[in-house]
Amino acid sequence: MAIPVDPALIEDLVVANRVLVNEGVLDAFGHVSARHPKNPQRYLLGRNLAPALVTAGDIVEYDLDSNPIEPPANFTHFHERFIHGEIYRARPDVQAVVHSHSPNVIPFGVTEHPLRPLYHMSSFLAPGVPVFEIRESAGMTNMLVSNNALGKSLAKTLGPSNVALMRGHGNVIVAKTIPMAVFRAVYTEVNARLQLQTASLGGPINFLADEEGEKAMQVLENIHVRAWDIWKRSVLAQMKS
Ligand SMILES: [Zn+2]
Repeated sequence: MAIPVDPALIEDLVVANRVLVNEGVLDAFGHVSARHPKNPQRYLLGRNLAPALVTAGDIVEYDLDSNPIEPPANFTHFHERFIHGEIYRARPDVQAVVHSHSPNVIPFGVTEHPLRPLYHMSSFLAPGVPVFEIRESAGMTNMLVSNNALGKSLAKTLGPSNVALMRGHGNVIVAKTIPMAVFRAVYTEVNARLQLQTASLGGPINFLADEEGEKAMQVLENIHVRAWDIWKRSVLAQMKS
């Protein structure tokens, strides 16, 4: 049976979808989920719908095998929901997951150039950004993480990191809260854009040192809510108008 959830959490999940569209991280595709606050063996994710269209009534509860719990008969489900189920299974610390095809990040999954933090806003990249090579798990595929085995392989590649790239596809971002997952997804895209611009200047790039990354990440713990607050306000205003 589905377990009722605080409507404020559902609202944040709906808002997260729309913020990520507004900020150019999600388009017609991609998704964001939250672990169920009352049962860590379940998670909440929109039904198979473009993120900008997700409302509270579209949020579905899934178990960690990504089977929907009591879904309305007319709902279909994301082919790649297994990303979420397997990351929640592998990472008990994670409470929110974003999967996107965020465009500026794509080049770093298909070249030898690692995505690294250029500035304090993306210091959460400092622990490293691994790249998931789907060919190593399943040979030639349609590139989608569309079953539990592939989700498990992706979660293994992610390891303890905050971000993993998916070669020729997109990325996954994890965090302890929905606002932090959204913040990291937005600034992963911004860092990727800045890193491409910086590379065009030529010469070596002076990335944040590991220790700087560690220290700057602690600052983000406090300040990311300012960004979430303004993003949420504008989304709620859009939804009313
Ligand atoms: Zn995808």
